[in-house]
Amino acid sequence: MNDDAPKAQPSTGMWAIEADAAPDSPCFVIDLGALEENLRILADVQRRADCKILLALKGFATWSTFELVSRYLSGGAASSPHEAQLAREGLGGEVHVYAPAFSEADLREVLRFADHVVFNSFSQWQRLGAIALEAGVSCGIRINPEHREVAVALYDPCAPGSRLGVTAATFRPESLEGIEGLHFHTLCELDSDALERTLVSVEEKFGAYLPQMKWVNFGGGHHITRPSYDRERLVRLVRDFKARYGVEVYLEPGEAIAIRTGVLVATVLDVIENETQIAILDTSATAHMPDVLEMPYRAEIVGSALPGEKAHSYRLGGLTCLAGDVIGDYSFDEPLRVGQRLTFLDMTHYTMVKTTNFNGVRLPSIALRHTDGRIELVRRFDYASYRDRLS
Ligand SMILES: *Cc1c(COP(=O)(O)O)cnc(C)c1O
Repeated sequence: MNDDAPKAQPSTGMWAIEADAAPDSPCFVIDLGALEENLRILADVQRRADCKILLALKGFATWSTFELVSRYLSGGAASSPHEAQLAREGLGGEVHVYAPAFSEADLREVLRFADHVVFNSFSQWQRLGAIALEAGVSCGIRINPEHREVAVALYDPCAPGSRLGVTAATFRPESLEGIEGLHFHTLCELDSDALERTLVSVEEKFGAYLPQMKWVNFGGGHHITRPSYDRERLVRLVRDFKARYGVEVYLEPGEAIAIRTGVLVATVLDVIENETQIAILDTSATAHMPDVLEMPYRAEIVGSALPGEKAHSYRLGGLTCLAGDVIGDYSFDEPLRVGQRLTFLDMTHYTMVKTTNFNGVRLPSIALRHTDGRIELVRRFDYASYRDRLS
């Protein structure tokens, strides 16, 4: 998923998590040392760029870590009443909420928790803005600079016909009274060169309105904690932008908080044969790691290689009855044994928030690896957690 595959296996971080030390299977295990390392990097950027960095809960919402997160970041970015409530309860700091549209009921709920509310259109702003202003929140409009940086359409907010944000052609300068900020979100897993190009486009199309704003939110998709990310350029871009327009700048990454911080441990339940060797695991592509099918991408497994590269190749299949519940084809040095555990790398961001109870498959337990190596089980899912999603 990124360009910095680990060269050696350090003794801390997600590579240090022993599959057999996980208290359950399947089980997500988050390395708190690795998470804190990311948070330190983000806090350093926040300080040097003199901006505020918020955690986007869409990408990472494992609230048992929020006390730690809140020591480094300025708050949370939410897109629904429930995310807003969790941000308020767990993170404290500032809560910023944007959604492609709010119902009046949802907006009223959001206003109990929010400091900033960003509207996706001028029609939403005209319909609901007075309610938000009366609640005393700072209001903003999401703009769409129509500057494309993301290759995959599923993740490109600036693709033609996008519903996300107001384009220059439909911007209504005459309706800005009460609006204190602009928000854009154009990136996904990208470096600061992509932000630099986006800013050129934002200033070209919306620069006339920037001096009257109090804040500009640069959205998420900044892969700040990736080792190759150019943080010096980010700091410079933010500082220059602030100096040019006299605004506060917010960044709201999700992924950057949690990349390389955790694993999913799973167990081989059976090995069968149909043209190829097939191992059935106690996890699932569709229920436990849906981005393997949806994004799609190949999840890395400790000690594995592409099929055919090592002596023993397997198709790894999941526990649901969906025919396509296939995680992928892998090879290993030794034959897989029933009962053997496998470690899927980099499963903290997005994967954990996107799990489902499809087929009643039990969700992976959640454990935290403390910096002294102790592993604490913080959640084991039971029948009620499945039953209570429906009635
Ligand atoms: C998805 C999203 C984010 C977080 O994006 P990451 O790629 O996880 O950094 C932030 N803001 C908005 C509006 C988003 O849609």
